[in-house]
Amino acid sequence: MPFRSRYTGLIAKYHDRLPLADDVRVISLGEGNTPLIRLCNLPRQLARGVDIYVKYEGLNPTGSFKDRGMTVAVTQAVAEGCRAIVCASTGNTSASAAAYAARCGMRVFVLIPEGKIAIGKLAQAIIHGAEVLQVRGNFDAGMRIVRELAEEGPITLVNSINPYRLQGQKTAAFEIVEELERVPEFHCLPVGNAGNITAHWIGYSELALGHNDPGTQACSFCAGRCRFTCAMVRERPRMIGYQAAGAAPFLRAQMIDDPETVATAIRIGHPQSWEQAWAASRESGGWFAELTDQEILAAQRLLAEQEGVFCEPASAASVAGCLRDIQTGKIPEGSTVVCTLTGHGLKDPDIASRDASAAMRTLEADVDVVKRVILDKLS
Ligand SMILES: *Cc1c(COP(=O)(O)O)cnc(C)c1O
Repeated sequence: MPFRSRYTGLIAKYHDRLPLADDVRVISLGEGNTPLIRLCNLPRQLARGVDIYVKYEGLNPTGSFKDRGMTVAVTQAVAEGCRAIVCASTGNTSASAAAYAARCGMRVFVLIPEGKIAIGKLAQAIIHGAEVLQVRGNFDAGMRIVRELAEEGPITLVNSINPYRLQGQKTAAFEIVEELERVPEFHCLPVGNAGNITAHWIGYSELALGHNDPGTQACSFCAGRCRFTCAMVRERPRMIGYQAAGAAPFLRAQMIDDPETVATAIRIGHPQSWEQAWAASRESGGWFAELTDQEILAAQRLLAEQEGVFCEPASAASVAGCLRDIQTGKIPEGSTVVCTLTGHGLKDPDIASRDASAAMRTLEADVDVVKRVILDKLS
């Protein structure tokens, strides 16, 4: 695959690293290639020599990292002749599935937990024409149903237990290493179903251990076919998974039945990639930690106010946890840290505008009145 200067999506760029046929019809919306933003104000306030980057996955086509997996899963589903896809979702998977299904004219059914999905995500599923099925139960209940459905029917499951999803999502790790020209010491992610932490670990591991072809030990990344060099990829980061305190099965070391958190994208008690995420944590020398909803929302605000980056609550768990672990010294001085910001803040406008009445004033439409208020603020 020749290197093209016009970016056309992650399958075009990483086709040789993905388990797709060479001549496959690619279903893409130009996902991937998201900005890696170096934080400037928050690290200075911490007064510790730590470099923090955020990988802003909210800038994917439907506003979350789910698009990375969805382009590959839907491309493969089309190649297999499948006519409909299904998923259970806390919101972003359904938004992404709906968009990619629309792109290729496929039917899509999404199961969402009644009343527990952010309004932006619901709007996306509806406008793209998905069949939205609201179930009286949480994400885990929906997940149980779609697993059974997909076993029986002619319908493809596009949750992250679909291995093509993780294959697409692993490309975020490639992009990070390409851009930093090295491997970060720590990678922080919010953990819900635990697919993304698993996918990143797959990506970093492929870079460090060589090609993913069975039996090939040689590092194909330094064979001149791509932009990596051996020195860039020999290491792997420690993977740190952050959960919301009310939905933290990895902290309890067991599944939980009634997860609850304001961060609806990670309101999951029975993670599907349970074993894989434990393995990623163990093999990388990482850890899991939990944040209260207050800590999560405080970090979301901090990022928005002090760095100009607006992410959804679940995403802010990575930054909340990272800042705390830097303060306590668990993440040592001199480290380079990448935090994944999984979804865009506009997904969940209700949360962000909760205090709207306190944050704004209503004035007469009169220049002197407005001027007085502004001058008062500036003085
Ligand atoms: C899906 C999602 C997560 C959780 O990712 P998992 O792979 O399920 O652990 C976190 N944040 C956002 C915004 C998401 O959409």
